[in-house]
Amino acid sequence: MNIQGKVVIVTGAASGIGQATAYLLAEKGAKVIVADLDANRAQEVSQAINAKGGDSQYFQIDVTSYEVNQKLVDFTIEKYGHLDASFLCAGIMQLSRLSDIKVDEWDRQIDINLKGVMYGIAAAMPVFKEQKHGHLLTVSSIAGLHPFIDTGAYCASKWGVRVFMEVIRRESADEGTNIRTTTLYPGDIDTNLTAHTTDEAIKAGLEKVYEEVAIPADRVAQAIAFAIGAPADANVSEITIFPTKQVI
Ligand code: NAD
Repeated sequence: MNIQGKVVIVTGAASGIGQATAYLLAEKGAKVIVADLDANRAQEVSQAINAKGGDSQYFQIDVTSYEVNQKLVDFTIEKYGHLDASFLCAGIMQLSRLSDIKVDEWDRQIDINLKGVMYGIAAAMPVFKEQKHGHLLTVSSIAGLHPFIDTGAYCASKWGVRVFMEVIRRESADEGTNIRTTTLYPGDIDTNLTAHTTDEAIKAGLEKVYEEVAIPADRVAQAIAFAIGAPADANVSEITIFPTKQVI
């Protein structure tokens, strides 16, 4: 696999899937920019990578700001001279009945999960076009493939990511820019994602299911590493990962 020396941004890298991916890619020789809203945790992850002989920087980002996404790419180019891949993993999940009209939570999920990803793509795109190569990776969800009760706003954000990524794949092929796109559709993965739901009954049900079936974040990290390491002429565009025990 061809990961050695690649420069990779990982957002949401202070926890869960992003953190597991940052560690795995660094182990495989990538230069990793650990980016997250939580600057302290991002710094800890970056320091842990460097302590093991890896090459990492950390950066505080709120992905809901286009300007800060641009600053992250500028920072990366300043440190490493180029950018090979952006794994746009930052996200939140706040489940509720749509009839409860929690508009603030709908906004937050669209702002972070969908617009945050779009801004990350917009920030990396000029560099990728100029280089004539680059790799965009995102985490949709099985909620980006299926509609689930209590999950409307989260599903909407994840269906949006799926469509946006597939159009970029087609446009890149059409334009000959060699930009690869990978969208992950994980089922239940053992991370902090379940912590943000404010409806206590839904949250309790969610945590019970996760306790029964969820698998470690490293399983998703392995898939990301596979996609990044694939030959440049092969675009691993979509991967679905369920826990073996999970029905839906
Ligand atoms: P997590 O809560 O462990 O990690 C999410 C990270 O994103 C945190 O470090 C958090 O600080 C960061 N973050 C949140 N808002 C941010 C913002 N505005 N700017 C920058 N960083 C921000 O959860 P996770 O499960 O690792 O989630 C990663 C992605 O995977 C999310 O997009 C999530 O929707 C997706 N996903 C997770 C699962 C699962 O079961 N865990 C399943 C499908 C998809």
